[in-house]
Amino acid sequence: AQDGAFPRAEVVVDLAAVRHNVGLLAERANRSGARTMVVVKADGYGHGAVRVARAAVAAGATWIGVCHLEEALALRRAGVTARVLSWLHVPDEDFAPAIAADVDLSVSSLRALAAVLAAARSVGRRVRLHLKADTGLSRNGCPPEHWPELVAAAAAAQAAGEAEVVAVWSHLASADEPGDPSVDQQARRFAAAYETARAAGLRPMRHLANSAALLTRPDLHFDLVRAGVAAYGLNPVPWAGDVDLRPAMTFRARVAYVKRVPAGEAVSYGGTWVAPRDTTLALVPAGYADGVPRALSGRMEVWLAGRRRPVVGRVCMDQVMVDCGDDVVVEGEEAVLFGPGDRGEPTAQEWADAVGTIHYEIVTGMARPRVVRTT
Ligand code: PLP
Repeated sequence: AQDGAFPRAEVVVDLAAVRHNVGLLAERANRSGARTMVVVKADGYGHGAVRVARAAVAAGATWIGVCHLEEALALRRAGVTARVLSWLHVPDEDFAPAIAADVDLSVSSLRALAAVLAAARSVGRRVRLHLKADTGLSRNGCPPEHWPELVAAAAAAQAAGEAEVVAVWSHLASADEPGDPSVDQQARRFAAAYETARAAGLRPMRHLANSAALLTRPDLHFDLVRAGVAAYGLNPVPWAGDVDLRPAMTFRARVAYVKRVPAGEAVSYGGTWVAPRDTTLALVPAGYADGVPRALSGRMEVWLAGRRRPVVGRVCMDQVMVDCGDDVVVEGEEAVLFGPGDRGEPTAQEWADAVGTIHYEIVTGMARPRVVRTT
C-alpha cells in the first residue's frame, strides 16, 4: 500500500518482515536438525493466511499448520503445495476433500481415526496421520489411558495400507513462562507417548515446540517445530533475551475530520474527557468494530503528524478522537494505531498490556470474521 492512497482503515502486512522472521526461526530449527512449520490458522493470525504461507515457504518453512479443514483447503485452492497439517475437527466433518488435497490430519481418538479412515477409503488414498497426545494441556489430544489403543489402531491402518503415521505430536501449555516446570513434565509424557508408538513398530516424526519452545528449548525441537506468533514478529518470550523479530502488522487509518473545540467541551460518549484548553481534535475512523478494543478508552495513543498523541474519550464503534493540541493536522493524513514501533508508534504488545491480554489476541482480532452466519 502506498502512502496517501490508502483506504479509510487498513491492516498493512509487511511480508518482508514475515520472511525475515521465518528465516531466523527456520535457521534456529535447522541448527537442531528440525524442519519448520509456520502456523497460519485464523487467517494467518490476522495477517492473511495465503500470503503468509507463501512468504513462509519462500523463507524456508516446509510445513504449514492450520486448525480447520477449510483453512487447509483454502491454502490448497490458492496453490500452496507445501505439506499442510490440520488439527481441529468436529465429529461429522467431511475429511474426503482434505485427503484428496493431500492435507495431513491430526487425530486424537479412535472415533476420529475411524472417520478419517472411512474418508480415506472413499477417496481411495492413504491418509497421512499425526497422532496427537495430550501431555498436559488437557485440550485436544489423546489422554494417556487411551493412547495405546489409538496407536495400535493407527499402526493397523498403516499395515493395511490405509494410513501413514507421519508423526506423534503434542502442544505445550506454558512454554512462554520462564522456567515453568510443566514444560519438562510434558516433555516426559511426550517421550512416553513416543515410546508407545515405537513399541508398536511405528517410526513417526515428533513435533512439540511452539514459538516459545522454539526460541528457548532447542532440546524440544525434535523433527519439526510449529512457529506461529514469532513468524509474525511478536515475541512470546521477551524474558529470554533479544531476538531480532520484526512485527509484520501495521494498523493505520486516515484522518477523516479535523476540528477545534473550546476548553470545557466534552468529547465522545459519556463525556469522560473534557478539553482542558482550546484544542484541535482529529477524528480517526477506526473503532471497536474495526478491532480497536473499547477497553483502550483513555489509555491509547496514535502516531499522527510526526508524533504520538492521545486518544481522548471513549473508543466508539467506528471512530476515535485524537487530541492534537495546537498542532496542524490535515484531513486525509495517516494515523498509525499500532505497528512495529520503528517510528515510535504504539505496538500490538502495548495494546495487549493496556487491556490485559496477549498480542496474539490483538493481531488475530484484525482477522476477517471466521464464524459463519446462518439465519
Ligand atoms: N501448534 C498448535 C497446535 C497451535 O494451536 C499453535 C497456536 O496456538 C501453535 C502451534 C503455534 O503457537 P505459537 O503461536 O505460540 O507459536
